[in-house]
Amino acid sequence: MARYTDSVCKQCRREGAKLFLKGDRCYSAKCAVIKRNTPPGQHGQARQRKPKEYGTQLREKQKVRRAYGVGEKQFRKYYDMASNMRGVTGENMLSLLERRLDNVVYRLGFAPSRPMARQLVTHGHIRVDGAKIDIASYLVKAGQVVTIRERSRDIPYIKDLREQGSSKPVSKWLELDAENLAGKVVALPARDDIDLTIEEHLIVEYYSR
Ligand code: SF4
Repeated sequence: MARYTDSVCKQCRREGAKLFLKGDRCYSAKCAVIKRNTPPGQHGQARQRKPKEYGTQLREKQKVRRAYGVGEKQFRKYYDMASNMRGVTGENMLSLLERRLDNVVYRLGFAPSRPMARQLVTHGHIRVDGAKIDIASYLVKAGQVVTIRERSRDIPYIKDLREQGSSKPVSKWLELDAENLAGKVVALPARDDIDLTIEEHLIVEYYSR
C-alpha cells in the first residue's frame, strides 16, 4: 500500500468525520475535527457544497477505507469477497474489515489507534494461537487467541498497558484477558458490533455502478 505521509488529521477533515487515527488525541478537545471541521486546503471552506449521489458514495467508501487504513486495491478485494459471501454485501464487507488482525489488536486495546496496531503487528509483536503473524490484513477466525509476544512485554508501552489496562471498552465479539494480554475471538463480528457511523449500502452502490 502506498504510504500516506501527510497529516492524518487531514483525512478526517476531508471525510468530515472522526476516523480515530491518532489515539488519545482523538478523544480530546485537540482533535482537528472538533477544532476545524472543514475540508483541508486553502479553499476547503469554499468547497463545502452538497455532494451529488456519486460524491456521497465515494466519500463513504473513502471514509471506511481510511478508517481501516486499507489501500484502494485491497479495499476492492474486500468488496469482491463480500459480494461472493452469503448475506448482505455491505455487512459482510464490514465484518471482513473488522476481522483484520491490526483491527483486532486495536479493538482489544493493545494499541490506541489502528495505525499503531498495524505497527505492532508488522514489527512481529503479535501472536495468533501462539504463532507469529506479522501480516496486518490477516483475517482472524472464531476461537483464535491473539496475544502479545512474551519478549515484547518488557517494552515500556506494553508494560504500562499491562499495569494500567486500556480505557477503551472491548467489542463484544472479543474477550479480553487483560492480565495476560490475550484476547479471544468469541464470535465473528456482526453489524451491530461495529461502532463507526457507516452507511455501507453507499459503498455497495459505489462499486455496483
Ligand atoms: Fe486527528 Fe484523531 Fe481527530 Fe481524526 S479523530 S482529526 S486523527 S485527532
